[in-house]
Parts: sequence; structure tokens; C-alpha cells
Amino acid sequence: MFCSKCGKQINDDAVVCVHCGCSTKNANTTSTITDNVSVGLCILSFLIPLFGIIYWPVMHGKTPKRAKACGVTALISWALAFVMLLGMGGL
Ligand SMILES: [Zn+2]
Repeated sequence: MFCSKCGKQINDDAVVCVHCGCSTKNANTTSTITDNVSVGLCILSFLIPLFGIIYWPVMHGKTPKRAKACGVTALISWALAFVMLLGMGGL
């Protein structure tokens, strides 16, 4: 087999790569973060728009879909609040 880190051929039952020394077992198991739209976080963003606005840019690199959903929900919440304020002002 080949080392997933340096790409050089190593023994099939080797525990560590003889070329770069990285572990062959943990080499492929990279931490995958689930990037699903979280309903709980969306509700939180709707109730506390500031949370969503901050969460969006901070978490965009790690979980873009979830972060965007929170940010958009926060914007919708703010837009609704603005419309409601306008409506009250019109009365
Ligand atoms: Zn290697």
C-alpha cells in the first residue's frame, strides 16, 4: 500500500510509514464535521439574531451550510422585527 501522507510505497502491515513516520491507521480517519442545517441553532438565531450574525462568519469555514442557515435566519428575524416596527409606527 501507499502512505496517505507522503505517497510513498510502504509495507502492507506497517503501522507507521517508514518514510515520514505518520501512522497508517489514523491517516485516513480525518475528523469530519457534520454540516447539516441545525433546527435548534436556527431557532436560537431567530430568537437571538445577534447569535446567528456572529455564528455565520465564525463557523463558515467549518460548517458553511449550518452557518449560513443561522445567518439567514437571523437576518429574517431582524427583517420581521423591522417590518413589525414599521407597522406599529404606521399605526
Ligand atoms: Zn509517509
